[in-house]
Amino acid sequence: MVLSFKVGDREIGQGEKAKGFVKAGEASTHDVMMPYVIVNGSEPGPTLCVLGGVHPLEYASIEGVLRVAQEVEPEGLRGTLILVPVVNTDGFNARAAFINPVDYVNQNRVFPGSPDGSLSRRVASCLFENFVSKADALIDSHGGDLTEDIYKFVIFGNTEDEGLRKKMMEMASCYDTLYIQTSEIKGSSGEALREYGIPCITPESGTPYPVREEEVAFHRDGIVNVMKHMGMLEGDPEMKVGVPVNPEQARFHAERGGLWIQKAAAGERVKEGQVLGEVVDLFGDTLQTVTAPFDGVANNSRTSAVANSGDTLIYVIRI
Ligand SMILES: [Zn+2]
Repeated sequence: MVLSFKVGDREIGQGEKAKGFVKAGEASTHDVMMPYVIVNGSEPGPTLCVLGGVHPLEYASIEGVLRVAQEVEPEGLRGTLILVPVVNTDGFNARAAFINPVDYVNQNRVFPGSPDGSLSRRVASCLFENFVSKADALIDSHGGDLTEDIYKFVIFGNTEDEGLRKKMMEMASCYDTLYIQTSEIKGSSGEALREYGIPCITPESGTPYPVREEEVAFHRDGIVNVMKHMGMLEGDPEMKVGVPVNPEQARFHAERGGLWIQKAAAGERVKEGQVLGEVVDLFGDTLQTVTAPFDGVANNSRTSAVANSGDTLIYVIRI
């Protein structure tokens, strides 16, 4: 029996690797196309779907997905690997942080989407219909978009289902993650948890400039480890034990508008009382000094020096 995978009219047989685009919608001058790579293993097994570029400037995660696309071949693969390296292609082309610039909507707040909705909703629906609905597990790879620098953690959705939660804990532990955060965010790709009852994780690491090798490797290695954990690839996964879940976080926002002068970087270990940065006014006078309230790791730091009141400056995670 040949277990083939269908994308539109195309059939990808067992032992085949295929790449192409599916059409998600139309703009006046072009079709909105979604790239995919399907690796249909030479032996049957589970199906894993991996996404990049839901948030279009999160390049370390996109590059990590592309690395896996180049490495994994049908020989030695059990099951099917579905890769969608860039979900939000219009956002990617336009360098539009977080949003699909055709309808100005955050692409990660409209899942499961709608085939009759505006473009970001059609992209979401096209993705779920063609790929996510056929998967046994989902990895949606993220990192900081234009305003953020984020270092090594994994998010998954809260659920009452202990079996699903355990699966998501195990998938998250396949990443070299500092901690795990559970979430109630509506409209993220994690809606697949409710739509299809599959485990979904969102690994987070990176910043648009520079794309750091360590974070590309975080994404690539995590995907490969999950595949080993699911029995899709030969070998034992490297899994972390005792990863903290929902550690205490101190989140600092700008109290006043001005210039943010940062003194600690995402991923840096910081000591209680250490100055992490300050906001100064346009005469250089200090308006706000941010100090670490406890020993921990700095994360989610601001990439733009401009700070308006309410903007995120930096977090400290107690780990
Ligand atoms: Zn993101």
